[in-house]
Amino acid sequence: MAKVTVVGGGLAGCEAAWQLAERGHDVTLIEMRPVRRTPAHQTDRLAELVCTNSFKSTDPTNAHGLLKTEMVALGSLLLAAAEEARIPAGAALAVDREIFSGRMTELIASHPRITIERREVTTLPEGPTVLATGPLTSDALADEIAALLGDDGLAFYDAIAPIVSGDSIDMNVAYFLSRYGKGDGDDYLNCPLDREQYLAFLHALREADIYPGHEWENIRIADEGEAASGTGASAPGADDGADGGRGAAPDGTAGRVGPDGVPYFEGCLPIEVLASRGDDTLRFGPMKPVGLPDPRTGREPYAVLQLRREDKAGQMWNLVGFQTRLRTGEQRRVFRMIPGLENAEFLRYGSIHRNTYLNFPARLNAYGAHPSRPELIFAGQLTGVEGYTESAASGILAGVNLDRIVRGLEPVLPPSTTMLGGLYRYLREGDPKAFAPMNSNFGLLDPLQERIRDKRAKRERLVERARRDFAAWMREHGIEPVEIAARAAA
Ligand SMILES: Cc1cc2nc3c(=O)[nH]c(=O)nc-3n(C[C@H](O)[C@H](O)[C@H](O)COP(=O)(O)OP(=O)(O)OC[C@H]3O[C@@H](n4cnc5c(N)ncnc54)[C@H](O)[C@@H]3O)c2cc1C
Repeated sequence: MAKVTVVGGGLAGCEAAWQLAERGHDVTLIEMRPVRRTPAHQTDRLAELVCTNSFKSTDPTNAHGLLKTEMVALGSLLLAAAEEARIPAGAALAVDREIFSGRMTELIASHPRITIERREVTTLPEGPTVLATGPLTSDALADEIAALLGDDGLAFYDAIAPIVSGDSIDMNVAYFLSRYGKGDGDDYLNCPLDREQYLAFLHALREADIYPGHEWENIRIADEGEAASGTGASAPGADDGADGGRGAAPDGTAGRVGPDGVPYFEGCLPIEVLASRGDDTLRFGPMKPVGLPDPRTGREPYAVLQLRREDKAGQMWNLVGFQTRLRTGEQRRVFRMIPGLENAEFLRYGSIHRNTYLNFPARLNAYGAHPSRPELIFAGQLTGVEGYTESAASGILAGVNLDRIVRGLEPVLPPSTTMLGGLYRYLREGDPKAFAPMNSNFGLLDPLQERIRDKRAKRERLVERARRDFAAWMREHGIEPVEIAARAAA
């Protein structure tokens, strides 16, 4: 068996290392802490949880629960350790964070085929490698990755707008139309607001509660002349079919200080900051109604929220230009004031924070390697998946595929009827001009052939199909789950 390297001892790196070791390879796992710290990690433990202590739902009919089922099918170290560290939290898998990362560290350190090195990696390793250095990848390595990927290959900030599910939008109110009738007729959905509705929305937006974030997470002001690299530099104005409103990295324009005292790049201003600038700023910016007459009245509304299609099937719709730091409960409350979104189901919430991630659809192949280095697989949050379990799941898949590569087999991906397969489909097919990280949600899965109105019944059917297809995929490619329980107990 081969000698392989895993860079980054976080959630994805630990899963990848375990998969590779259990599949018979000698693994060197390189973690820079405590030699070099990140702004968020507090300890030298592997798989440290930087924020909440919850891995979200275990309910198999929940999107996060389904992803866990798939991780268990392949053998997940994280979920085994989490069970041992579990504390009561209803249907959520919450853990005592000290016990959890302590156990992860212990399990990895005691594996006979894993060697841990504590040092900062500053150049891309030679040979078969999983690179999982996460959203806080050190600067020197980020520069190396940027050099491999080229222009627009790497983003340093998320400016994410919320995504809602298509079947939760009231189509008696919203209408399909691209500005001035450009593009395909059903690229955009529009939610019209009259003056009264607009002012009520504006008022609620200005009063809403904002997530304060950590100081180091905040968008920094670009130094004069600094051209920060990244994907999808966006303008604060309306989408206009060109794209904008999310994506990420600043375009080098000077930042401004918002009312919350945080410096933002002009290119990715939160919607609430724009709202604070004047009553008409949104109406002349992301909520511009020009060229979008409501077919029911024949007139342009006072203001419009545009929703941009995120997937071919129209299951996921992006609130264009609505990147925000509002707390998630406030996003639900305030954005549901917009006509047509009263019952909107949020598949992804908006956020703005520091996050190094790659422009996967523009630069990587289907399983997450650059074409010039097919045996170097990127994994974890760095790839553009968002969240603890999503990062860990991508680490498992990277481990499975690196094992296949060193054994001379083709890398494989689960079908897009499964949660992991749906996430990877999003990574490879996302819009490279506006690529932003994504968490698990049912909008990622292929739609069902039949139309099921009842939400719960529909999810149960999606889950049943996903479980069946995931098992069939593993069988087809001879992928056995790795052992967790026996070694963990040893
Ligand atoms: C502040 C913050 C809060 C977050 N909160 C949540 C949350 O509450 N819930 C959630 O689901 N997700 C959250 N995320 C998103 C994400 O799920 C986590 O960051 C998750 O830990 C990502 O897993 P990972 O394995 O990709 O990266 P990490 O867990 O960050 O692991 C990467 C590891 O690589 C190491 N490393 C970095 N550079 C180098 C180098 N050059 N050489 C060697 N080692 C290196 C780091 O020290 C780190 O240990 C948060 C992210 C951040 C930044």
